[in-house]
Amino acid sequence: MDILTMKSKVSLGCNRCDKCCVYRGDIKLTGVNIYQISKHLNMTPKEFIEKYTERLEDSFPEIVFKTKGEKRECILYDDDFKGCSINSIKPLQCIMFPLVPENLKRNYFTSNNQCPYVPPKKITVKKWLDGNNRLYSKNKKNYLKWISYMEWISYREEKLTKEEKEKIYFYLFENYDISKRNLNKQFDSNLKEVEKIINQKED
Ligand code: SF4
Ligand code: SF4
Repeated sequence: MDILTMKSKVSLGCNRCDKCCVYRGDIKLTGVNIYQISKHLNMTPKEFIEKYTERLEDSFPEIVFKTKGEKRECILYDDDFKGCSINSIKPLQCIMFPLVPENLKRNYFTSNNQCPYVPPKKITVKKWLDGNNRLYSKNKKNYLKWISYMEWISYREEKLTKEEKEKIYFYLFENYDISKRNLNKQFDSNLKEVEKIINQKED
């Protein structure tokens, strides 16, 4: 399979066929996603988490969007508008589809060829990922940090009590003040709190 870089030209575009948002696998969420989406929907992170997400029980501590009906349509798919209701702040898996990360750090991707739309002109991978508001480039540093933390935490699951796991969920996803604009600071501080919980166990 061809490896794509940010400069590779790809036949990608969107005619809102909805394939991105139905029969999809789990769409994993980061703390940054929770902050941005709850703010967009004018809800607290706690309210958002309860209404729109669920825990992946066999993959601690991931949380994913709930789905609707037999087609497992994403709960944030707007049936009237026929499109994503949070398009400008959608999660990484949605930004990338149908590209698949091979090495996110180095921006290497492949394509799963699942997008049926073939636009008349090719565009660069960078243009596809960033869209109009640099969604990928702006958030990439936090994505990479998040992925390495999630891996580190999941390997330590067996050592954690139920209470410690609940605290970890709280710091990873809920402990955001959306009235403040310092998202990166809150993100880093929450990850540090999780680190403290785990390091105390390992001392
Ligand atoms: S599968 Fe392709 S055409 Fe369909 S909604 Fe997703 S990006 Fe758009
Ligand atoms: S967040 Fe948006 S793009 Fe992603 S699966 Fe849900 S409706 Fe589709």
